[in-house]
Amino acid sequence: MKYFIQTFGCQMNEHDSEKMDYLLQGQGYIPVKEVREADVIVVNTCCVREKAEQKFYSFMGRLKALKARYGKIIGVTGCIAQLEKNNIKERLPFVDFSLGPSNIHKITDAIDKALNNIDFMDFSENGYHPGIGSHCIHKKNGLKAFITIMKGCNNFCSYCIVPYVRGREISRHSKDILNEIKMMSDNGVKEIILLGQNVNSYNKGNNDLSFPELLETINEFNGIERIRFVTSHPKDLSPNLIECFGRLEKLCEQIHLPFQAGSDKILRLMNRGYTVKQYIDKITHLRMRCSDIAITSDCIVGFPGEDDDAFNETMELITLLEFDGIFSFVYSPRKYAAASNLPNDVTKEKALERLRHLQTVQKAITIKKNRAMEGKTFQVLVEGASKNSNEELTGRTRTNKIVNFKGKHDMIGSMTDVKIIKGYANSLKGEEP
Ligand code: SF4
Repeated sequence: MKYFIQTFGCQMNEHDSEKMDYLLQGQGYIPVKEVREADVIVVNTCCVREKAEQKFYSFMGRLKALKARYGKIIGVTGCIAQLEKNNIKERLPFVDFSLGPSNIHKITDAIDKALNNIDFMDFSENGYHPGIGSHCIHKKNGLKAFITIMKGCNNFCSYCIVPYVRGREISRHSKDILNEIKMMSDNGVKEIILLGQNVNSYNKGNNDLSFPELLETINEFNGIERIRFVTSHPKDLSPNLIECFGRLEKLCEQIHLPFQAGSDKILRLMNRGYTVKQYIDKITHLRMRCSDIAITSDCIVGFPGEDDDAFNETMELITLLEFDGIFSFVYSPRKYAAASNLPNDVTKEKALERLRHLQTVQKAITIKKNRAMEGKTFQVLVEGASKNSNEELTGRTRTNKIVNFKGKHDMIGSMTDVKIIKGYANSLKGEEP
């Protein structure tokens, strides 16, 4: 039986899809590249922003037509499944099964039931699936692997729906994580990416390794050459964690630290738990500790109450801190999230105008930073052939920047020194030194 998984959303979702891939292939299901060819179609969903939700419903329109014509088994998993729970069946009656993010380990049971014309829905929040991360090596190349170290979030930022769909924080036991990493390094994985909604609060209050201690232990593993983690919350970025940068040689010089807004008034309304000054202090400490660290961030514009002054403060922060990149979005109210009750006098046009301005300023900063790398040589993990040219390879620096350069295919999988000859907005061009 053939299957196709469509994934929307973040790296947590991407990894959940890898886990379902692993389980399905373990039962003899065959992955296909085209949705039409599949007997079973799984849609792994995201509801963090309105746009992702709209994309999901438009994709479901396509599937409805496909099912009517060819008969397919269709399942919905992930955050929209959890959010809509049993309404899924009302809104999308052609769906055969639906699983919340904590229940994706039941994917093969759900398909079995659907094959027998029995609908299968499971949204229980305590169905954590620690055991199925193993062997889920990043499908791209087998060199990089995601590892979920915790799930859920306790922060309740006022714009965010994650605590409602992914539940409260639960950390995996370090022993399970370390066993998994051992298995991965035995299988040739060189880079691991530790995943969680808020990895900085890993094992908070538990009698187990803290996050910095976990990093230290992984740093001792033979075979693993690079460690990254995502996502961090500024308020939980402890001095001990900052101190790991520059000390643990496998911990890459890179962090994603969402600031969301550059105004204390907006940060309070967002319930972020830190001030602009505290955020700046953390970045200053990170850069003192590790001067060449690459820092990326997230920012929301058009949040309720964001007047011109508040937006200008955000722009001042961006200009001051010079991030390597920013993922920026227009605020969209989400069901259940507290901010959806706030009156918003920022018009859509105004918010879009602010977003365009922010992105233009940030693009210039990113290009400036990437150009500053020209003429210098960096270690690159060669991940595969470049999408743009058959003669080119692609890989990433320790600072997580994409580098394309001419090279032979037998270099794939190696750590290679590459000299940067051109910096662009989204990538770097390099050559062998
Ligand atoms: S830290 Fe805030 S934005 Fe991030 S997942 Fe938790 S509630 Fe959402």
